Amino acid sequence: MYAYPFSYHRAKSLAEASKLLQQLGDESRVLAGGQSLIPLMKMRLARPSALIDINFVPGLADIQSPNGELRFGALARHADIEVSEAAAAIPILNDCAAGIADVQVRNQGTIGGSLAEADPSGDWGATLLTLETSVQCTGPQGERSIALEEFIKDAYTTVLAHDELVREIIVKRPPKSSGGAYLAFKRSAPVYATVSAAVQLTLDGKDICKDVRIVLGCVGLTAIRAKQAEAELHGKKVDGKTIQRAAEAAREAAEPQSDMRGSADYKRALVAALVKRAIGTAVRRARGERVEAGHEYVGR
Ligand SMILES: Cc1cc2nc3c(=O)[nH]c(=O)nc-3n(C[C@H](O)[C@H](O)[C@H](O)COP(=O)(O)OP(=O)(O)OC[C@H]3O[C@@H](n4cnc5c(N)ncnc54)[C@H](O)[C@@H]3O)c2cc1C
Repeated sequence: MYAYPFSYHRAKSLAEASKLLQQLGDESRVLAGGQSLIPLMKMRLARPSALIDINFVPGLADIQSPNGELRFGALARHADIEVSEAAAAIPILNDCAAGIADVQVRNQGTIGGSLAEADPSGDWGATLLTLETSVQCTGPQGERSIALEEFIKDAYTTVLAHDELVREIIVKRPPKSSGGAYLAFKRSAPVYATVSAAVQLTLDGKDICKDVRIVLGCVGLTAIRAKQAEAELHGKKVDGKTIQRAAEAAREAAEPQSDMRGSADYKRALVAALVKRAIGTAVRRARGERVEAGHEYVGR
């Protein structure tokens, strides 16, 4: 199907993009990688009157790592992050970037577009919530920095005003003896995950968990922080028993719906299994081991 007619505008700066959003009104939209917006337009589920293309704004795809931070320009593509040496320092980022959809989508889709879309099945939301992440936004009132926890309000809803744009995503580097893992269970590459689990933890140098975040994807209207599961590990020795209790608590925290990807019970069982494995991988990485992890496919 063809999209409804729309006008196309190329912005040379974010200030210009913001001004265009104001001038062109509520039905205008920003175009980044187009990997969510264009399919919706072609299915006629979205009907923007105008698209404001930010792909020609200089510097907006940069990835930098100054002073204990990683900074991703809003237009950093999933594929850029997958091969970024700076991002490789935080393995959970690579787990996420390397498994999003297929190579075509990864070459076009952007981290900023992904967070702005706030799809409950999106991989970046769950992954980045395990880290200290802030979203730098720019609009007519100037710049503001929003913690990711505050940025995503609901399914497909963020705190962004209509004329406000994501400029940069800033991730604080975790301390020494930290490790994380993002596991997403999928039916095939070009579909969203059935369930995903992200775990980021810090050990005391031995086996005691000093800090931990556990986030579940695809089992709620937004990614869910499983705080009781975290409490099962926090300040305790990470062993088979505590991992099992954390996995059970995560299962309880999930709020899945039955749909074409599986029944709610099936998804709860997947949550427990993925959390268990993600904790195991995170612990091994925290101890300095190199471990492959990421997206898992049915039947593999
Ligand atoms: C076949 C297919 C499979 C996919 N599978 C997955 C998957 O498994 N996991 C996953 O996470 N994603 C998946 N995606 C989505 C993909 O990751 C998209 O790249 C992402 O959701 C949106 O990024 P984008 O740059 O393409 O944004 P666009 O489609 O260009 O924009 C999405 C929305 O965000 C707004 N927006 C974009 N950039 C900004 C900005 N800087 N500031 C403010 N608003 C902005 C747009 O106006 C629009 O409303 C899939 C997409 C396809 C087509």
